Parts: sequence; structure tokens; C-alpha cells
Amino acid sequence: MSQARNFTYQSLPMRVVMGPGVLSRLADEIDMAGLKRVLVLCSPPQQALGEAVARLIGHRAAGVHPHARMHVPAESAAVARDRVAELGADGCVAIGGGSAIGLAKAIALETGLQIIAVPTTYAGSEMTSVWGLTENGRKRTGKDPRVLPVSVLYDSELTLSLPAAVSATSGMNAIAHAVEALYAPDASPIISLMAEEGVRSLAAALPAVVANPQDLFARGDAQYGAWLCGACLGATTMSLHHKLCHALGGTLDLPHAETHTVVLPHALAYNQPAAPDAVAALGRAMGGAVNPAMALWELARSLGAPGSLRELGMEEDDIGHIVEQALANPYANPRQVTADGLTGLLSRAWAGEPPTS
Ligand code: NAD
Repeated sequence: MSQARNFTYQSLPMRVVMGPGVLSRLADEIDMAGLKRVLVLCSPPQQALGEAVARLIGHRAAGVHPHARMHVPAESAAVARDRVAELGADGCVAIGGGSAIGLAKAIALETGLQIIAVPTTYAGSEMTSVWGLTENGRKRTGKDPRVLPVSVLYDSELTLSLPAAVSATSGMNAIAHAVEALYAPDASPIISLMAEEGVRSLAAALPAVVANPQDLFARGDAQYGAWLCGACLGATTMSLHHKLCHALGGTLDLPHAETHTVVLPHALAYNQPAAPDAVAALGRAMGGAVNPAMALWELARSLGAPGSLRELGMEEDDIGHIVEQALANPYANPRQVTADGLTGLLSRAWAGEPPTS
């Protein structure tokens, strides 16, 4: 080691309970948080699960609100806040993916109500104090400690129903958090350890999950990796990859996890020459890969995930706007971001070519 260690690390106050079947401990977690009447939030396809959760917690359930939507439209957040007020709820249980958890965060942001999260995808929102709200076609995001769940229950049994294709892209979305944490401006040794272990666990588990979505051990490993990667997202500042995906999702309404899956190998390939420690950590996490960007591209191919922005519905002519947006506000990135560099990166991602630096 030839350089002095120099970092700041702030841990986030939250409780994590992990294991198959831990949903059965939800009532205890609600009591421990001092909550009496919680509103259960979920997306429409998970309404039956939301209702089962309400039955499980009995008198602690104020009601079920199965109206969470991707990217938290501001009007849907307002409706959910009215429901909280009407039912006299003193907290929320969000069960589902980033959409359900995002809705709970939008409620907490205005009301300060506590959240207990039960994630059923690998997106990682439950581990962060980042909120997002979409209004007039623009997604605003911010950080506020009030939106951080007090308790998170990771029950791998609840992920058995996540389709193989969604598991693959959601898992790649999680890996993206760890990749960018490794070269973040506020990276720290403990987060780098979590990032490496998170990528190792997900890269090993996802092929097994896709081969057999009912493999509870692989599901547990994928969820463990997703927790670690989510914690990396919560602890650090994301760079080029997340900025590009935010612009692609916000401007063109491309699907969240799929967009992350397509862009990640290309964004990493762009940054690799300027991030040798991240390359070394990712190489160790992926069986000694010398080119982690290519290893991630091959992993996504082996999982049958979408390989191009074109197949997600992007027009080639949109590359220019996205480059402009990604250059409009400066942010920390290990390698200088240039218009030519971004155009090349997005053109390869659009066409589904292999990543190159
Ligand atoms: P999602 O929550 O919309 O879930 C995708 C779909 O999968 C939904 O229809 C949902 O009902 C279904 N689903 C979820 N779990 C399931 C299961 N176990 N079985 C069957 N179906 C299941 O999508 P997501 O990818 O989890 O989250 C994406 C959203 O989260 C985006 O809006 C993104 O911006 C946000 N996000 C926020 C943060 C943050 O820190 N604030 C982090 C990551 C993602």
C-alpha cells in the first residue's frame, strides 16, 4: 500500500432481518418500532400478497393500498398520503420492489411516518435514504434520512415468484450499485468489501436462479447480494452509469432494471481505465475476470437478459439528447466524461455490441 488511507464512513441506522420465512416476524418488527396501525403498500400485481400481509399482522393493519407505480408519480403519492390520513395510519409496511418502497418513501418524506420494508426484488431502494417523485414527465430525486426504513425484512421465500427474466435484470440492477460504489468519490474500505461480496454473491446466484427460479438457496444468495449492493447504493454517490440510466428512464421512459442491465457493461468499460482498484475487486468477485465489463456483458447474455437499448424501445436519434443531458450537470466520475466518449458508449449499448473502453 503506497497511499495513505483517507475516507469518511457514515453507517445508516437500520435493522435487517434476513432468512426464508422471516415475514412471520413482521408483527414483532412493527411492535418493536412502536407502530400501532400501518398501511400496507404494494403494486397492483401484488395485491393478494399485500392482503395476506394485512391478515398476518391482524389489528396492526390499517388497510392495504395496492396502487404503487414505477417512478412514483406525484399524484399517486398524494392519493396514498390522503389514505394514510383517512385511516389514521401511524406507519407503512412496503412489500414489493422499488415501486412499493418508493411510494412509502414519498409518504414518509411529507409526514415523517416510519417505514418497514419487505423487498421482493433486488433493486435496493430499501437500503437508501434516496427518494424519487415524478411530475410533469420529470423525475426529481433527493436524500432525506426520514425516508430510510427503520427495519427491512428480507424473506427469500417471497422472491420465488419473481419471474426469471425480472430476477436477471433486477439482479444486474443491484450489481450496478456495487460497481459504482467501488469507484465512488465517497468510497470507503468497508463499502468496497460489501460491494465485492455483493457482486460475488449475485454473479454466482443469478445463473442458478434463472435455471430454477424455485431454488431457495440461490434465491437466498441473490437476496444477500442484493442487500449488500443496496447498502453500497445507500452509502455512496453514484456516477456515470446511474446518471445515464436516470436520463434514459426519465426522458424516454425506458424500463428501469432492463436499462441498467444493458448500460452497465458499457459504462464500466468506459470507466475501467481510470478505476484500477474497482477492476481488481470486480475481477476477484467474478472468478478472476481480467475485463469485468466484458464478464458482466457475458453474464447478462447467459441470463437471457435484453442486450440493446434498441430492443428496449429507444430510437437511435435519441442518443444525442441523452448525451446532452448527461453532460448538462457535472458529477464525479473516475474518467472525464466527453461528448464523443458518451456517444460511442451509448451507440454500442443501443446496437447491442460488446463493451469497449
Ligand atoms: P417494481 O417495484 O416496479 O417491480 C417490478 C414488477 O415486479 C412489479 O409489477 C411488481 O409487482 C413485480 N414484483 C415485485 N416482486 C415480485 C415477486 N417477488 N414476485 C412477482 N412479482 C413481483 O420494480 P423494481 O425494479 O423493484 O424497482 C424500480 C423502481 O425503484 C424504480 O422506480 C427505481 O427508480 C426505484 N429505485 C429506487 C431506489 C432508491 O434508492 N430510491 C433504488 C433502486 C430503485
